[in-house]
Amino acid sequence: MLNIGCHLSTSKGFENMGKEALSIGANTFQFFTRNPRGGMAKKIDEKDVAALLELTKANNFATLLAHASYTLNGCSADDSTRKFAIEMMTDDLARMEYLPNNFYNFHPGSHVKQGVDIGIDYIAEMLNGILKPEQTTIVLLETMSGKGSEVGQNFEELKAILDRIILSDKMGVCLDTCHVYDSGYDIVNDLDGVLAKFDDIIGLDKLYAIHLNDSKYPFNSHKDRHETIGQGFIGLKAIADIISHPKLSHLPFFLETPNELSGHAEEIRLLKSVYRG
Ligand code: FE
Ligand code: FE
Ligand code: ZN
Repeated sequence: MLNIGCHLSTSKGFENMGKEALSIGANTFQFFTRNPRGGMAKKIDEKDVAALLELTKANNFATLLAHASYTLNGCSADDSTRKFAIEMMTDDLARMEYLPNNFYNFHPGSHVKQGVDIGIDYIAEMLNGILKPEQTTIVLLETMSGKGSEVGQNFEELKAILDRIILSDKMGVCLDTCHVYDSGYDIVNDLDGVLAKFDDIIGLDKLYAIHLNDSKYPFNSHKDRHETIGQGFIGLKAIADIISHPKLSHLPFFLETPNELSGHAEEIRLLKSVYRG
């Protein structure tokens, strides 16, 4: 069975996200833990969360994916920005325990002229200070497109972070199809080769989720502009191969494409029609 969902707005509450997901044929979803531009998180409404947990159980949902704020930059050169990142992630992970056993994805960060090695050290240091043995959430590093000074634009950088984490079983990777294609991994013409590389460097057992996006820009362009499924440079055939690949087809897939709910319903219908599970 294809485990598929899309990014939903948190503003109407947790149970409503579950209902929205069901209404578009999804069995999971992604949501921001707070305003994507940062700022304070809403207090958890325990009744609302309990209603969502009931809904996801009754409808056999796959694992949910939370996405950290875009402003979280644990490898900034600025002390207060790094401190803010630590505070946000600590608070996010505490609140994630109201929704136990799900995933929390974040952008490793931008090192901004300090160099990637310093960036990697800061990110690992942040995670080692935050992760707890008793947490049920798996924290995922997102594969990035390599615009600006983003850390995580290749598998080696993600592996370097993972290697420094003490509680390594709390960590994994979320692969974004638009980002990896953009950063020079040819998932259109050589999906098996890219997966072999991922397995060699990181290990496919560390891959927990996929951001399923087409790309507005061609291969290796480092632009990070998502496109609707089938309308970009990755194309429907390659995307059908990705969701159906025996090494990937069990994972949850999350659309982050430029669409309203009805557009996502359309995409999910299309993806189910080409899925060979
Ligand atoms: Fe992201
Ligand atoms: Fe993404
Ligand atoms: Zn992106």
